[in-house]
Amino acid sequence: MDYVRDPFLEKWRQKEQGEEDVYFARRDRELIERLREVNGATERRHVQELVRMRCPDCGEKLIRSERDGVPIAQCAAGHGMWITESELHLLAERARSSWIARYFYQPKPIV
Ligand SMILES: [Zn+2]
Repeated sequence: MDYVRDPFLEKWRQKEQGEEDVYFARRDRELIERLREVNGATERRHVQELVRMRCPDCGEKLIRSERDGVPIAQCAAGHGMWITESELHLLAERARSSWIARYFYQPKPIV
């Protein structure tokens, strides 16, 4: 049997094909966007894990220790010490002879 070209049927098929293309293009964009969000969140989490508890100057792992019962983190290479604000207030409330008071209030030699 010969295929008879029906212009209306041909237009109808083109319309359906166009709608299908639009549907799949939209779906692909949504999937790509979701994949970007997942990759971005994963990348952020990896960066956070890489920099967590590391010295911002040299990148080495910070060492946890304790001063007068207050937990601190410090760089083994001497680039600094890190303490939370509440822990700092706790130290400040203690006697002026505490290590932080000596650190902040002791006169520094002039070189
Ligand atoms: Zn360091």
